[in-house]
Amino acid sequence: MNNKNNKYNNNFIYNIVKQDLKENKCLLLHTRFPPEPNGYLHIGHAKSIYLNFELANLYNGYCNLRFDDTNPIKENIKYINSIKNDIKWLGYQWNKKIHYSSEYFLQLYRYAEELIKKDLAYVDQLTKEQIRKYRGTLITAGTNSPYRNRNIEENLKLFEKMKKGHFNEGEACLRAKIDMSSPYIIMRDPVLYRIIYKKHHQTNNQWCIYPMYDFAHCISDSIEGITHSFCTLEFQDNKRLYNWILENTSVSHYPKQYEFARLNLKYSILSKRKIKILIEKKIINNWDDPRIQTISGLRRKGYTPSSIREFCKKIGITKQNNLIEFSMLEYCIRSELNAKAIRTMAVLDPIKLYLYNIDDNYQEIFTVPNHPKKPELGTHEIIFTNTIYIEKEDFKEKYEKNYKRLKIGSEIRLRYAYIIKAEKIEKDINGNITQIICFCDLNTLGKKPINRKNPAVIHWISVKNSHISEFRLYEKLFNIHNPEQEKNFLSFLNPNSMIVKNGFIEKKINEKIQTKINNIEIKNKNLFFQFERVGYFCVDLVDSKKNKLIFNRTVSLRDTWNNKKAKNN
Ligand code: ATP
Ligand code: MG
Repeated sequence: MNNKNNKYNNNFIYNIVKQDLKENKCLLLHTRFPPEPNGYLHIGHAKSIYLNFELANLYNGYCNLRFDDTNPIKENIKYINSIKNDIKWLGYQWNKKIHYSSEYFLQLYRYAEELIKKDLAYVDQLTKEQIRKYRGTLITAGTNSPYRNRNIEENLKLFEKMKKGHFNEGEACLRAKIDMSSPYIIMRDPVLYRIIYKKHHQTNNQWCIYPMYDFAHCISDSIEGITHSFCTLEFQDNKRLYNWILENTSVSHYPKQYEFARLNLKYSILSKRKIKILIEKKIINNWDDPRIQTISGLRRKGYTPSSIREFCKKIGITKQNNLIEFSMLEYCIRSELNAKAIRTMAVLDPIKLYLYNIDDNYQEIFTVPNHPKKPELGTHEIIFTNTIYIEKEDFKEKYEKNYKRLKIGSEIRLRYAYIIKAEKIEKDINGNITQIICFCDLNTLGKKPINRKNPAVIHWISVKNSHISEFRLYEKLFNIHNPEQEKNFLSFLNPNSMIVKNGFIEKKINEKIQTKINNIEIKNKNLFFQFERVGYFCVDLVDSKKNKLIFNRTVSLRDTWNNKKAKNN
């Protein structure tokens, strides 16, 4: 996992760390990943996880996992469990025990008192709305609160009263006393503590005042001995407050904050708040819906931990915000699956084909490779009989220019088997084709036809050898590049983001998978395949039933998104 000489290691953050270690500014690198347990992790978090854990691994340092749990209204133990599971699944292990900002609530309270005693914090009783108004704008200075000049004793008493539950929510808060005319709005007396009456998942009802992110984060970093605290660019201005708090309290360790560009991915929503809206409105099924780029959604779609790590490595770390191509993410899983997925045939949208010159009880077994380039991956057997399924789209009743697959009067090769020629079709009373009647040229097994053009090849499954399955084909959830930027992002949904097909896989493959998915061990792993000509698929371990497996298409065989033409060949 950690290659000491790759390009990723040349980014500006690595260079800062390298320099700090070289100059002994830091003896042992200590990073942290600080998720707020108010949602599931997504691919943007993976970028941060990759940076923090890989860096610590490379320099034999440590990376802490710390839940930034300062807002009990939005947080939940279910999110804590999913976050732990996702980090482990990605291949990382945090340093010793898991930390919570809530562990430090008492220390944080003492540091807040210290600020009050230094006349650097006060209890304000303006309403939330008034605080916002008094704060001013980017072009106008803020106004001091009438409560700003309370004396130290009164502030200490009121802060204690806040802690003891003498105020209602919103009636009082603790603010830092900095500068209401600072050009940095963050420095205009930021709120440090607010009142929330809600049971906390770690501290129960012990506290009714909760520190704000900016107050808790820097002090938690300091208590844990974090040397380098990495966050995304939006926190650039917050760094002033981060440093101000550390400088004005008696903390004994000074971590440093550095910012990098967050990951934005084309066609994707990564904000947890917006993902929650998608779930509430039932546009997606849950946090693990394969159409969103949460870690659990990607896992369910068939992404592997190594493909996600590879993606993080490829996108690198920069200081400029940009929008990453979705195809880059797909490229990472496609190349991995190309190397290791077992090849087999499945028919997703079936139509029956009857070979009239073959006997009803004739059966032939072909041994076919599991991987075209890797004989070490073995072989499997497929059964050939006179009635098979092919894909509907591999046959055209009417003449179409440049159509190279099966049509009346033309030939096609069945993968691993014979060349066949379509002669006529049978239809039901509604005019739907029920069967394509073909002639099978039994002289063409493994041979090029003599004096004839080599026809195109299509995949198939013998009806006798088939087992019913469902296939879920995914497209992008949004049809614009940057839905995250749109206020009404819900108006840009792609109505075809999931297409369900009912078709067939080989019986033996079905049996093999059924025995595997009953094995608990497999629960967190993917069983993936390349269904020849249709893409890479994995078994959906959530919805698959005993008698009917469900397959999610992880990724198409080629990049069809950037090259729509490829689809029509
Ligand atoms: P969201 O915007 O999805 O709600 P958040 O920043 O509020 O995310 P946190 O749980 O606070 O979520 O994030 C934990 C860590 O992951 C932070 O250090 C944050 O900077 C980082 N992170 C979150 N989103 C991204 C992203 N898109 N790219 C890179 N890092 C991210
Ligand atoms: Mg956050």
